[in-house]
Amino acid sequence: MSTFLTSLNSQLQALALCQALDELPNDEDNLLLLTDSLSVLQALANLSIKSNKIILRLAAKIATREKFHQNIVLLWTPGHAGIKWNEKADNLARRVTESDLSIHWVTVEDIITQLKALAENQTDAAYRGSKYYAIRGDIPSIPTITPWLKNRREDIIIACIISRMIVTPALLHRFGLNDNPLCSMCKCDNSIEHILLYCRKYSLTRQALCHRLHDGQLLCGNFKLKRDESGKFITEQPEYFNSILEGAVTVLSCSPFISDIFLSAGGKTIAIWEHNIKSAPVYRRERNAYITSGQWSPTRPALFLLGFQDGSIEVWDLLSNLYQPSVIRFMSTSAITSVSIQSLTGFHLF
Ligand SMILES: [Zn+2]
Repeated sequence: MSTFLTSLNSQLQALALCQALDELPNDEDNLLLLTDSLSVLQALANLSIKSNKIILRLAAKIATREKFHQNIVLLWTPGHAGIKWNEKADNLARRVTESDLSIHWVTVEDIITQLKALAENQTDAAYRGSKYYAIRGDIPSIPTITPWLKNRREDIIIACIISRMIVTPALLHRFGLNDNPLCSMCKCDNSIEHILLYCRKYSLTRQALCHRLHDGQLLCGNFKLKRDESGKFITEQPEYFNSILEGAVTVLSCSPFISDIFLSAGGKTIAIWEHNIKSAPVYRRERNAYITSGQWSPTRPALFLLGFQDGSIEVWDLLSNLYQPSVIRFMSTSAITSVSIQSLTGFHLF
């Protein structure tokens, strides 16, 4: 059963009942209202927040009278039996129906809703026109940030990190509560940046986090189409290497000499992999600076070149030294974002 009044006629019937209630005397104890509109009575019986505004208004009027100990009985009467108030309600309804069919009833609630929307739009427009919009940009509305606010404890930690109010030895030192602001292991400022991004004490935790974030992940797949059981062409799922790279992959270079070998780097880690061994790299070295670029030599099988964030480059020749680079050169004050080896008139230039 629908609780909504769909037809204009039903709405007018309800309005007529409102009008009738307004005109009825206040000192009567028992009131009997007769209506031939079944849909109005049904809507009243199934009252909800979604009910039509006029029905809600009618219900409120009835409730008000009930508060003053008036008994109100609504009775459905299929026809107009010549009862005075019934005729009056019917006449009112008919008069309105006949006078203007396209009439729109505006309720107070609708006006308030409109004004609310207008006020919100004006506030939004004022914000967009202000200098704060240029600085802050769009402010996410409450519904869009709700998914991020599920875990209160995490919210507090994130807010503390952003506002730099997590208690670190460096912070305690600033307020004279700790003698040593330096990290006991790395001997550098024990700030929130150090703990989150650099401290060796937490490298395993960070590595686990990078795994969870899929940062530094290596995966291998091919585009060759295969048929599945139903005969449809599909591409195979890629296979993951058990990557140990801490940070986004910045170097990925296949050996020009050995088809199964490739060089990778991410964060401060160099890793060389054999395609068939996905559990761990076959070769791994940690550097002091972030690796930003790298390339195998096209002419010498065990030689590769790396560029670093601090502007240095390193040449590694695994045949002569497995543990240290053969050459380290500082080339620039900014990061080396790309390195390439080119064969030019018999010489190999970087
Ligand atoms: Zn540290």
